[in-house]
Amino acid sequence: MDCLFCKIVDGAIPARKLYEDDQVVAFHDIGPQAPVHFLVIPKKHIATLHDIGEEDKALLGHIVHTAQRLAREQGCEEGFRVVMNCNEHGGQSVYHIHMHVLGQRQMHWPPG
Ligand code: AMP
Ligand code: ZN
Repeated sequence: MDCLFCKIVDGAIPARKLYEDDQVVAFHDIGPQAPVHFLVIPKKHIATLHDIGEEDKALLGHIVHTAQRLAREQGCEEGFRVVMNCNEHGGQSVYHIHMHVLGQRQMHWPPG
């Protein structure tokens, strides 16, 4: 399958990994939009949030918990933002679901 993030999971493409276990990988975003900007992805290929099923609920919870734990480790005690872009209107560019975690600066609302 020609998926960039599956290749990062497999190690075929290098990434600055923060964390890995049997279900998820977390790595620094290649184009950081904040002093802290990393992605948490499932090892399982799921193209978009439209494609998650009942069987993925625990996996999504694990992604959120991993994001929270790593954000704290990265010094985001004052807060952070998580973003999951879905499909075209959501501005998704890599079609393997990922949670952005951004921190160490003030975030604003509404997003663009
Ligand atoms: P999205 O636009 O929500 O699909 O986010 C995709 C993110 O993946 C962007 O923030 C990119 O900077 C990031 N990205 C793309 N290629 C890589 C890579 N090889 N390593 C790390 N992050 C990447
Ligand atoms: Zn994939």
